[in-house]
Amino acid sequence: MTKNIEKDVQALIKKIKIYNPKADLKKIKKAFEFASVAHIDQKRLSGEPFIIHPLAVATILADLKLDTTSIIAGLLHDTIEDGGAKREDIVKFFGEDVALLVDGVTKVTSLRLKGSDKDVFVESLRKMILVMAKDLRVVFIKLVDRLHNMQTLEFLSEEKQLENAKETLEIYAPLAERLGISELKSKLEDLSFPYVYKKEFKKLKKDSEKYYESAEKHIALIEKILVRKLNSQNLEFKILARKKHLYSLFKKLKRVEIDWNFEKINDIVAFRILVNKISECYTVLGIVHSNFKPVPTIGISDFIAQPKPNGYQSIHTKVFGPKGRIVEIQIRTFKMHEEAENGIAAHWAYSELKTQNNKSLEIEKGISVQSDKLTWVKKLVEWQKEISDPQEFLKSVKFDGFQERNFIFSPKGDVFDLPKNATPVDFAYSVHTDLGRDLKSALVNGKLVPLNYKLKSGDLVEIIKNKNKKLPSRHWLEFVVTREAIRQINKELRKGES
Ligand code: MN
Repeated sequence: MTKNIEKDVQALIKKIKIYNPKADLKKIKKAFEFASVAHIDQKRLSGEPFIIHPLAVATILADLKLDTTSIIAGLLHDTIEDGGAKREDIVKFFGEDVALLVDGVTKVTSLRLKGSDKDVFVESLRKMILVMAKDLRVVFIKLVDRLHNMQTLEFLSEEKQLENAKETLEIYAPLAERLGISELKSKLEDLSFPYVYKKEFKKLKKDSEKYYESAEKHIALIEKILVRKLNSQNLEFKILARKKHLYSLFKKLKRVEIDWNFEKINDIVAFRILVNKISECYTVLGIVHSNFKPVPTIGISDFIAQPKPNGYQSIHTKVFGPKGRIVEIQIRTFKMHEEAENGIAAHWAYSELKTQNNKSLEIEKGISVQSDKLTWVKKLVEWQKEISDPQEFLKSVKFDGFQERNFIFSPKGDVFDLPKNATPVDFAYSVHTDLGRDLKSALVNGKLVPLNYKLKSGDLVEIIKNKNKKLPSRHWLEFVVTREAIRQINKELRKGES
């Protein structure tokens, strides 16, 4: 192991210790060793040893304060697909939970969303979402995997660069946004931007410089005044300035009502005031408005009283600053701020800690939470529901029109794309001809069902085989709907007659 890698491992361990003193560090170190062996002799296109990639992924997951299982799965996420590891060894050393996460990440990775065919694209997207919906931690790992790959995109061919950057902009960034992980979303967008819009990126980077600068100066003036006023109140506060990230500025400039006029952008640098309590947010709002007049009609948005669909909470107000120049001020609690940056991942942060002492409540697979007074539990479950309803989710990512498709899981987690009214017999034939022919009965989500049962999206189907059977049943033709099933059943029956 080189010195640098050793240092990175130590940094990772140190990071985890801070937010999760009870993490199983031994197991995490073991996962690192396991991945090192699995990827031995493999190199990244940069020429560096491959292990730096899973190590970087695990480190970013630790920045998001994720649990031990996620960190370990992050270290192991490429060991089966790219390395020489076997699934059963992962189960043996690290448990089925970790193996399932690795499976999920691998599955999502194999669904490439390239090509101009919109239908294929949309179907792949939907499959991807269903895989992710089984355990949200798969999404975190996949997003972070993509982040690191985007950070090292320079080493790929131009064609691959464009393909990956487009996919990141179209799928992964909206996904991060939907989960409220805005920091990750911004990073993914800014990493993709120069590859997808080469010329526009260069021009905007140059043109925007002076606007960022003058906005920062303007905000400093307002800050001075507000700090004095806030200090006279008895409250703890923190003021932050955040520069609008470049891709988001690009999107805003493109809007019809802005039409590339920088002067119309009020939040190129936003001004944030953080306080402890919700009631203090409104106190601060009062102080702001008594010193700077709110702008009529576009003035105030109260996302505390009415959170955005992704859970985002904050008060936004646009006020006239010195010289009549409009500026946006955002007011929120420290907790809302943490959630806005890290989204649902922020909730995971403490779940492991909290479940050490109290009995945890298993709400859904992959989500282990403490039972008492955690208001976010409700939100988390809502999220899980939202995500496992792809129709609703996709509407928000702006795709729709394929309600008629069903996606069915095999016990191994493979996804099969079947038409409406498909039955376990259709499923068996789409898996393998032999499986259809030998079919005896079927379990859907663990329960025995009649063979003409109509499958629903998200169903997990297990086929039980008949050991001695030679022919399918003619009766099946009355309810199967897929061409493949009809064709194969007829063929087998003809064979049986001759
Ligand atoms: Mn990877």
